[in-house]
Amino acid sequence: MNALVQSLAALGGLRDRDALDTELVRLVLSSSGIRIESADLIRVVGEGDDRRCLSLAALKPGLEQPTRDLLWSDWSLLPKVSDFAVRQKALDIGRAAVNPSQPGNAVLPMGQAQGLQILLDVQAQQPLSPADIDLLQSILLAYQNLLGLLDYGERDSLTELLNRKTFDGAFFKATADQTGGPPDNMPERRHESSESGVWLAVLDIDHFKRVNDNFGHLIGDEVLLLMARLMRGNFRFHDQLYRFGGEEFVILMRCDSAAHAEGALERLRERVQAYAFPQVGTITVSMGVSSLLPNDTPSSAFGRADKAVYYAKEHGRNQVCNYQTLVAEGKLVEQVADEMDVDLF
Ligand code: GH3
Ligand code: MG
Ligand code: MG
Repeated sequence: MNALVQSLAALGGLRDRDALDTELVRLVLSSSGIRIESADLIRVVGEGDDRRCLSLAALKPGLEQPTRDLLWSDWSLLPKVSDFAVRQKALDIGRAAVNPSQPGNAVLPMGQAQGLQILLDVQAQQPLSPADIDLLQSILLAYQNLLGLLDYGERDSLTELLNRKTFDGAFFKATADQTGGPPDNMPERRHESSESGVWLAVLDIDHFKRVNDNFGHLIGDEVLLLMARLMRGNFRFHDQLYRFGGEEFVILMRCDSAAHAEGALERLRERVQAYAFPQVGTITVSMGVSSLLPNDTPSSAFGRADKAVYYAKEHGRNQVCNYQTLVAEGKLVEQVADEMDVDLF
């Protein structure tokens, strides 16, 4: 038990989600005293009948390092939850489910904010007792609380979107993953198209001052909250959504092509326009997007997308403008990186 307490304490010192996931599966294998031989920490992505299993960290016999699926793994290659009867059952009943034909196998669910679901699928050498399951559930609860603490520091309290503080780290991780091999010597299952890249979009609500002036700040804040909800419903699970300041949002997304990136933004623009905001009615947004370039910095990439927003605002609002397209069409003059490297923070 002492080793378990020590491992849990070490878990609490981690500030990186990937490391936390990896150490959790190691902990499950090494400290539980239940002789667990494999553990798979899974994030359930998607909805309804099309929920799929994205592996956050998996340790199997003979493997030194945990494997994980990349966050932007091709959706269609991920296994369906419904292909695993015990995982499906654990999700349905909301508590641990033991495999009736293989009592060393159990799946434990964990609820999270925003409806996210995590499953821990373990395989032990002998049947798991209720006490074993309780112990595993306690480890999972400690992990959940640590995740909650990480969220607290990284998310905006009004919208629960990521805050600006975390943007630089995510940006450099995205660019490193774009050009480099698997990070941290971690063997990964890669499902990736060669044309895929990362796009950064800036979204600014049109005439938001009028909302505050006509309806007050409380209603203004409600619009921001609803906007965040529309954004969460519009993008894929691996896209990163930020509230950067007042009514300005940033989206960091990995897509197969510029057309897909623009398509996702255009869909959001249409959904916002079609949404009836309580009391206020119709709201529109202007967006600018830019692909990330080799050796990009957060401020230069943000600067390009922001220039495209400015162009959208100057040319009628309620539209998505692509920086690279505007430059190619001669509507914007390309800025050298240094010039755009304004101090954002
Ligand atoms: P534009 O179409 O040009 O973007 O016009 P705008 O009125 O939206 O102009 P701008 O983006 O410059 O204005 C931002 C306004 O957003 C200023 C402020 O009144 C409001 N605002 C900023 N932060 C908050 C917030 O946290 N809550 C509320 N309710 N309003 C905010
Ligand atoms: Mg603004
Ligand atoms: Mg605005």
